[in-house]
Amino acid sequence: MRELLKDCKRVVVKVGTSTITYSNGLLNLKRMEELAWVLTDLRNSGKDVVLVTSGAIGVGAVRMGMKERPTVIREKQAAAAVGQAMIMQIYHNFFDRYNQTVAQVLLTKEEVGSDQRYENTKNTMETLMELGVIPIVNANDSISTYEIEISDNDRLSAMVAEIICADLLILMTDIDALYDQDPKTNPNAKRISCVDWVTEDVKKMAGGKGSKFSVGGMLTKLQAAEICQDGGVRMAIVLGDDPTIIHRVISGEDVGTFFHSRKE
Ligand code: GLU
Repeated sequence: MRELLKDCKRVVVKVGTSTITYSNGLLNLKRMEELAWVLTDLRNSGKDVVLVTSGAIGVGAVRMGMKERPTVIREKQAAAAVGQAMIMQIYHNFFDRYNQTVAQVLLTKEEVGSDQRYENTKNTMETLMELGVIPIVNANDSISTYEIEISDNDRLSAMVAEIICADLLILMTDIDALYDQDPKTNPNAKRISCVDWVTEDVKKMAGGKGSKFSVGGMLTKLQAAEICQDGGVRMAIVLGDDPTIIHRVISGEDVGTFFHSRKE
């Protein structure tokens, strides 16, 4: 089934805070540059590409001297406002080296929830992709308290993938796959190569979250997988430390954990 990925036309890649920053919260520029190179190459090969990125709150918090990810909403909003501008500037510079234009798209639940705004979001994204642009999406954390309180970019990326009818969503994270038990505490834990359907038993395999500057974890990734399955989008969870893994996923290699869509 992974073989079919070679033909995918439209790909959404989501990177978590832990993928584009070091554990001290500072930006991992090498990783971001490699990501820009791989995604531009994918775009050059004829695929539509969307990047969903986290990092605004974590990066902004560090920039303002906070010791860890803020918990007070107004501080999260302030951190996001600072960090979002920083990460976009860096992405813009790296993508620009390869003559790739990028666009910032910030979304809230309303854009993906109401029919009219859903349509607007879809139209904007479609137009950007027709024009050869790579949209870079994040939650609009500095204006939406609701988003910060309940949202995560795993589910947001699944909603984006569904809205634009993507063929594949790749979640890049700090663990290489879903395991049947927590691999950090159990050396006998086995990698799950493929999930047909996200059942309650599959959800029980999910563990905790990554660094003190990030959110999410395996549970939100499985919730994203449920959205993808219902929306007819295939999904993969892979380790984010080497962006060239994106090529390996698309060429059908057995890496990470692959989730079928309902249509298969
Ligand atoms: N939107 C948040 C940020 O950019 C992160 C949410 C997430 O990582 O799921 O900081």
